[in-house]
Amino acid sequence: MNAIGIDIGGTSIKFALLDEAGKILCRERRPTPLNDPAALADIAAGVIYGWKGSEMPIGVACAGDVNNDTGLVTADNLGWDKVPLGPLLFQRLGRSVVLEQDAQAAMLAEWSAGSLMGEKNALYLTLGTGVGGGAIVGGKPHRELARTSSEYGHMITHAGGEPCSCGERGCYERYASVSALVRRAEGFSSAEEILAAVQAGNEKVVAIWKEYIREVCMGLVSLLNIFGPEVISIGGGISEAGDILLDSLKAGMGEHTTYTRYYSHTELRLAVFGNDAGVLGAAASARRFREK
Ligand SMILES: [Zn+2]
Repeated sequence: MNAIGIDIGGTSIKFALLDEAGKILCRERRPTPLNDPAALADIAAGVIYGWKGSEMPIGVACAGDVNNDTGLVTADNLGWDKVPLGPLLFQRLGRSVVLEQDAQAAMLAEWSAGSLMGEKNALYLTLGTGVGGGAIVGGKPHRELARTSSEYGHMITHAGGEPCSCGERGCYERYASVSALVRRAEGFSSAEEILAAVQAGNEKVVAIWKEYIREVCMGLVSLLNIFGPEVISIGGGISEAGDILLDSLKAGMGEHTTYTRYYSHTELRLAVFGNDAGVLGAAASARRFREK
């Protein structure tokens, strides 16, 4: 059966119609209506009915605190506080859709057909505006076992450190997100520019990059100690950096005894789905729910 994946971002909503094998048959993209969830639900219902998809598995991914049981979503990037997205869609479609946090959706995309395909114990970390991720434990998404979102970005890696939007101080994402990298590199406005300077051998920027990698690895070491994954996949826009990121992470992890003594068999990979991860993962999540 075909399935539909929807990825709600701060500027646009992406829709994809997928076949049984996970191949994208059709796409749509619409601007995200600001502060108007009812209008957003109308747009989504319009696309779904246009694809004759109201009976298909439908998954919706978005950032923030996403509760599939209550259908409520709190998302800073959308200005939403406990918005009843699930009920709004139910009113229009006459049935439930599956709601998934964006990082979890990306992990499910990688697990169903990408860099983590077939893995039993694996970790996915996404580095972007913030830091997120998820784990596969014993062949199941950890989220399904724990019934809670994974918020790796809010692990505290610096006691008493920089204030975070969550109300704590010293959270991992204040240091290891791509936003943190760009903040650190004065005069640069994107990770692409920074990476180009690293590759050109700009010593000042190379030092900033190494420090950034050190921060990413510090959190990864804690996650290794908790989950003991056989594979770690790194996603988010920065994964497009390719070998330079992978090689830097391998070198960075090599400085930790946790890694060299106990987890040197743990393989580091890059995510493969890029911008499609949200729609693919949302659809994969909807299929999982349908099969249960
Ligand atoms: Zn935080």
